[in-house]
Amino acid sequence: MNVLTVDLEDIYDSLLSKNVAPNSYNVSKRVKQLLDVFAHNGIKATFFVVGAFALRNEELVYEISKHYDIGSHGYSHDLAGKMTAAEFEKDLQQSLKTLSDITKKDIVKYRSPGFSLCKREYIDILAKNGIETDCSLSAMKHSFGQKVLSSAVPCRLECENNKIIKELPPCIVRFAGMNIGFNGGGYLRTLPYGLIKRNMNANDYNLVYIHPYDFETNQPKTGNRTFVRRIKSRAGVKTMQTKLNKLIRDFEFTDVATAVEQIDWQKTKIISI
Ligand SMILES: [Zn+2]
Repeated sequence: MNVLTVDLEDIYDSLLSKNVAPNSYNVSKRVKQLLDVFAHNGIKATFFVVGAFALRNEELVYEISKHYDIGSHGYSHDLAGKMTAAEFEKDLQQSLKTLSDITKKDIVKYRSPGFSLCKREYIDILAKNGIETDCSLSAMKHSFGQKVLSSAVPCRLECENNKIIKELPPCIVRFAGMNIGFNGGGYLRTLPYGLIKRNMNANDYNLVYIHPYDFETNQPKTGNRTFVRRIKSRAGVKTMQTKLNKLIRDFEFTDVATAVEQIDWQKTKIISI
C-alpha cells in the first residue's frame, strides 16, 4: 500500500512559519501542476491544508476538496513544540473550523507542521476535537520533532476517555547506523530515485509526503535563514517533477481515507505515548 499526501501551504521553511510573507512564491501554479498530474493519472491523494492558507485561497481549497481527501495541517503552521497545550488546541480548532467552513466537510485527519507533534497531551487534544487519523508521528528524529514510534508502520494511539487515533507514519530506512526518511520532503528531493524505488519496493506500506515548494525553482531568497536551511529547502527542486512522474509510473497510490478503510486495524499495535 502506497499513500500519497500533500502538505498544502505557502511556507517554504518551517522555521519561517511566523514571518514568511503569504503567497511569497507562486503556490497556486505549483498546486495546479500537481492537480494536473494527479487528474491525468487518476491518482488519489490527501491534502493536509494550513488553515490560514485556506482562508487566503478559499476557491482553490474548495475545488481541491471536491475531488480529494482533506486533512488539517494546523492553522498557523506553528510548530507544536513551540505552542502551549492551550495554544495548540486553539490553533487546531481554528484550522478545523476554517477548513470545514470552506469544504463543507468534517475534517477528521491531521498532520502537524514539521512532524513536531511528540506529546501525549497534544494527541489527547486531537482526539478530543474529533481527529480520527493522524500522520504526524515518526520513528526517526526530524529537525523539529523527536522519534516517537519504535517502527514506521500504521498503529493505533491510545488517547484519554478510551479513544483511539489511527496513525499513518512516514517510512524510514536504516542508513549508516541512522534512521533516515526517504519518501518525503528533502529526502525525496535529494536521494537518487533508484534508492527510493528500492526502499519502497521493500515495504508493504509506504507514505509519501510532498509540498508545493518541493517543485518551486524560484523560492524566495529572502528570509533570515542560515545557509544550511536555504540549501535544505531548495536542494533537488529542479528534478522533483521528474521524480514524481517516475513514482506515479512505478507505483500505485491511494489517499489516507482509502488506506484507513483497507488496513486491518485489529492487527496493528496499540501504542501509548
Ligand atoms: Zn508544513
